[in-house]
Amino acid sequence: MRIPLSKPDITQRDIDAVVEVLQSDILSIGPKILEFEKTIADFVGSKHAIGVNSGTSGLHLLIKAFGVGREDEVITTPFSFIASTNCFLFEGAKPVFVDIDEKTFDISADMAEGKITDRTKLLLPVDVFGQPTNVKSFMDIARKHGLKVLEDSCEAIGGEYEGAKTGSLADAAVFAFYPNKQITTAEGGVIVTNDDSIAETCRSLRSQGRAETGRWLHHDQMGYNYRLSELHSALGVSQISRIEEILKKREQVAQCYNKNLKNIDGVTIPWIHPKVTKMSWFIYVVTFDKRIDRNRVMDLLNDKGVDSKPYFTPIHLQPYMRKLFGFKEGDFPVTERVGNSTIALPFYTKMEEWEVAYVCDTLKEIIGKF
Ligand SMILES: *Cc1c(COP(=O)(O)O)cnc(C)c1O
Repeated sequence: MRIPLSKPDITQRDIDAVVEVLQSDILSIGPKILEFEKTIADFVGSKHAIGVNSGTSGLHLLIKAFGVGREDEVITTPFSFIASTNCFLFEGAKPVFVDIDEKTFDISADMAEGKITDRTKLLLPVDVFGQPTNVKSFMDIARKHGLKVLEDSCEAIGGEYEGAKTGSLADAAVFAFYPNKQITTAEGGVIVTNDDSIAETCRSLRSQGRAETGRWLHHDQMGYNYRLSELHSALGVSQISRIEEILKKREQVAQCYNKNLKNIDGVTIPWIHPKVTKMSWFIYVVTFDKRIDRNRVMDLLNDKGVDSKPYFTPIHLQPYMRKLFGFKEGDFPVTERVGNSTIALPFYTKMEEWEVAYVCDTLKEIIGKF
């Protein structure tokens, strides 16, 4: 037996939706992407939604649209998936990292403000593990200093902070739909924004720099092919129609984990900020006390058929980041401590109670040895 780290939740309706597109003759640039974009915009309450072929593509287009380039600084977190930093390294901008909060794993707007210089162009907070961050506090500071806020919400679609949905308060935000996310399009992402000009730039850049109403093979600017196909969009439309049900089920799986793991010596379960009115569970991450050898726990779990992964290895300690910017161990102590003591356990929408129980019993048995 193997319990995987994640697993997509694909229904017959999802399959039918994709097959229908295959039978329709329109495989890209058609009605499905428009339907997907409208559904996402309505869901978030944003004016625009722009479908793209990955979360990374969406972040990259926004970096271009915000005019972030060489010599500019972006203030962000070192505790994230690598794409939240890569997106502006593509354009030659420099990362200015802020150490994270020990409990929420997010960066705070106050600490970000302390790092603002003449070169700062953008604040880029991340909704880590599906926990919405306090985007309003970043917006307040950005307005005070004439900056923009890009919310990387690739892990937190449908989450709410003080009743405000992720993606609804920032200058722009991105959701992602890789198969381990809450909903999937296999590969894909979507940009949301209320800003007409940002939206127009992103639409043009995702499709070779064409003007939206312009002639075919006429290019206003240099662009990319970051389009989301009709197949992927149809899967997205079908998946997001079940978003509430999916988030509810994931909440139940998380609660089941919490119940099983809350009183184990040496193991800390996820901490949710009281102002988070809705979690959008992406993965389930536990923290171990110092005396417990995290890597050994992962090996022993693996021997018992339970997959797990360290989440995250700090971005500043990735080999190319050290080489490019001279980052080293000790630069962001909380991030490093968290990065060394956390693991993601198997977590997916259709996870059964007995599977959670098996993972937890196995973990308890292993922890007992330390
Ligand atoms: C998933 C994710 C992305 C985007 O990933 P893609 O694989 O490009 O869709 C970006 N940022 C974070 C924090 C993510 O978790």
